[in-house]
Amino acid sequence: MAVKSESVAVVSIGDELAIGQSLDTNSKWLSEKLTERGLTVVEHVTVPDDLERLVATLRRLARTCSKIVVTGGLGPTEDDLTREAVGMLLGERLVEDPESLEAIRAWFAAAKRTMPERNRVQALRPESGVHLSNPNGTAPGLRVLFEGTTILCLPGPPGEMRPMFERVVETEIQPPEGRKIRTMVFQTIGAGESDVAGRLGVLMSRGRNPLVGTTASAGIVSVRVRYEGGGTEDEVARLLDQTSAALRDAVGDLVFAEGGGSLAEVALEKLRRVGGRLATVESCTGGMLGQSLTAIAGSSDVYVGGWVTYSNEMKSRLVGVDRGVIERCGAVSREVACEMASGGLSRSDADHCLAITGVAGPGGGTAEKPVGTVWIGLASREGGVDCRRFQMRGERDSVRQWSVSSALGMLVLRLDGRSGVRLLRQAEA
Ligand code: AMP
Ligand code: MG
Repeated sequence: MAVKSESVAVVSIGDELAIGQSLDTNSKWLSEKLTERGLTVVEHVTVPDDLERLVATLRRLARTCSKIVVTGGLGPTEDDLTREAVGMLLGERLVEDPESLEAIRAWFAAAKRTMPERNRVQALRPESGVHLSNPNGTAPGLRVLFEGTTILCLPGPPGEMRPMFERVVETEIQPPEGRKIRTMVFQTIGAGESDVAGRLGVLMSRGRNPLVGTTASAGIVSVRVRYEGGGTEDEVARLLDQTSAALRDAVGDLVFAEGGGSLAEVALEKLRRVGGRLATVESCTGGMLGQSLTAIAGSSDVYVGGWVTYSNEMKSRLVGVDRGVIERCGAVSREVACEMASGGLSRSDADHCLAITGVAGPGGGTAEKPVGTVWIGLASREGGVDCRRFQMRGERDSVRQWSVSSALGMLVLRLDGRSGVRLLRQAEA
């Protein structure tokens, strides 16, 4: 048999995933974990609950991959076909595993229920297969060996899959010997992806190791540096240092963070470092900015809270925007964004207040203020009010996402003392 490359495929199973009813978060999570562990993930495949397709997919992937991690299809119902598919692949009949059956019974007993007869199928496994216990549910995981490829089947629900993976990873997922994977991330603001790539030049050659790649998301371009291969820790560190130094030379003036945290995380951390606190006043983003900040555990020492002032009335009533100004300039205007930011600042004990007002679309645009027109204000106790107009593109969701990240971007730039930097999609005032 030909030697298979040390590579992993991740297979997610379920009609709900194939038709787009629910999002396959397992593949993302697993790939991140496998990569951290030094494995090379080469393929993600989503298969509906279809026995033949499943068998064919596993057979195909097993030809070139040394490992396949499968999630889903281990439930007790008719559409849970992973056990059967693996049995067919191996050409083995399914046998009942007495220990697993006992564990499933015990799981129901602990919940003060008797095991429905239906769940008995979850104790089945191909003869040569090994079950992995599941303390968080009834479906045991399954490990089999097929023509030199290890196939690891995990339950679909993330709350069962993740702890099972964490528990078995040490023994079941061995990184290739002597191989190291090291990743660094540099986040930039104020330039588009092709400008960043242009500045990086040959650093981005595909054959290079460490490999340098970029990813753009709502105005932030992340530059990834990734080493993959052998060598001592010192050698690898030296290679990474050389590449990082070259990278800083090329785009250092655009970098606002080293490391992979979200923009909101970076903003909170920068505020924390200077003992600053933040308030928000949101119109077209309806609380998304506050949500992105409060999604981060421990944000309460920095983020004091905010107002969602969607109507004109609420802009005036809650943060004191002058009714005459709204009438004269419109709710989406420099004047209103400024008053929202200053009003929020003076009504809170924060040091900075971000305000967003814009036309998210798809309706509501005019010739003068087309869909995507967004004004963002940043008022600070020291430094005055900075108000910028943006012309966002795309659909409602995209306009709102860009508004949040541009607001955070303005804050990050102010905290870095670089308020002069122009942001992407920023329009002439
Ligand atoms: P199953 O193991 O097929 O019974 O999966 C049961 C449930 O787990 C599904 O209804 C989904 O809610 C969830 N699930 C299955 N596969 C995935 C996946 N790839 N990503 C996220 N959730 C999943
Ligand atoms: Mg399913």
